[in-house]
Amino acid sequence: MKIMSDLPLQNQRVLVREDFNVPMNDQGEIINDQRLQAALPTIQTLLTHNAAIILLSHLGRPTEGVFEQKYSLRPVADYLSKILQKKVRFELNYLEGLEIQPGEIILCENVRFNLGEKKNDPVLAQKMAKLGDFFIMDAFATAHRAEASTCGIAHYLSSAAGPLLEREIKALKQVMDHPEKPLTAIVGGAKVSDKLVLLEHLVKKVKVNTLIVGGGIANTFLAALGKPVGQSLYEPALLNEAQHIMQVAQDCGCFFPLPEDVVVAETLSEHVVTQIKNIDSVCDQDRIFDIGPQTIRHLTEIIQTSKTLLWNDPVGVFEYAPFAAGTKAIASAIANTPESFHQYSVAGGGDTLSAVEQFNITQHISYLSTGGGAFLEYIQGKKLPAILAL
Ligand code: AMP
Repeated sequence: MKIMSDLPLQNQRVLVREDFNVPMNDQGEIINDQRLQAALPTIQTLLTHNAAIILLSHLGRPTEGVFEQKYSLRPVADYLSKILQKKVRFELNYLEGLEIQPGEIILCENVRFNLGEKKNDPVLAQKMAKLGDFFIMDAFATAHRAEASTCGIAHYLSSAAGPLLEREIKALKQVMDHPEKPLTAIVGGAKVSDKLVLLEHLVKKVKVNTLIVGGGIANTFLAALGKPVGQSLYEPALLNEAQHIMQVAQDCGCFFPLPEDVVVAETLSEHVVTQIKNIDSVCDQDRIFDIGPQTIRHLTEIIQTSKTLLWNDPVGVFEYAPFAAGTKAIASAIANTPESFHQYSVAGGGDTLSAVEQFNITQHISYLSTGGGAFLEYIQGKKLPAILAL
């Protein structure tokens, strides 16, 4: 796979697919600019080559062919102009051609307003390709989608991976392909059904030394061991699958710790009465919403003696203060691992970024992935179509 520095980009028109799918409030203000900041080095490098930069991205999930104000990328163009301290021209209509000079930057309107984007229509891809001399795919967070602007263009232009995509792949390879051991994966979140392939892949192929499961996922494993889970979220249809994964873990010599104690309540709210219970004492009306203090102590020890860490999703309902302690403790354990231990940690996917930000440990994670779905697909061993196209 070629990388951006392999291409002769001086004074050329360079089409760049970024992922500017940022969260905005009702006033169209950007409330988290992580993805814009992550793309800045790519844009700045292209400016040093005096390239004419044409940026492409999607925003949200509009109906194709229908313009809707709330999905317009115009606020992103204004925001980029501010943080780059350079005008980023916004273009509503671009498929029939663009006027651009070397050193200028254009952001095109949401690619998903174009009919055929999601189906990777070759006619649309060709029209986009005609805008540039080269194509840089830099949108890791969209690399799991075979769409016209992520994959199609690469068939018509000399193409390469951008620096952000390259950084993401390097970081993930370091964890998945040649990690320093012991390697621990922490997989939280709501449902086992979303993570079955991932859990098995981590145990069988990646050969993690320890697999920590948390959140609703852990409840299904506890139930599979015959433990009481009361009214907790769990998936009764997946008990056999859960048992299978635990068996595979045992066969592979992978340590698979389950919560020993938990935080329970009868309802999910900010001011509810909570109780800490040993895992064997959960009652019929209890709902498990977080891991307990004894579990936290054990997990902290495992985390702080792991050379490599992969973290996906919270181990409790961290959005509510009474159930945030477990996820906060995971974050603190990573943050407080002595620097001299040289731990390498990668976090990403789903709600992981908000947890990392909420607990203020962004600077303590070695690499924070910009990918949600793409991150999950990559770590479960799938080939991402946009990377294949390159
Ligand atoms: P996911 O939607 O799979 O990415 O998982 C993230 C969500 O799982 C977060 O919104 C958490 O609040 C939720 N979660 C974590 N622990 C639990 C739990 N014990 N019961 C229900 N939901 C949980």
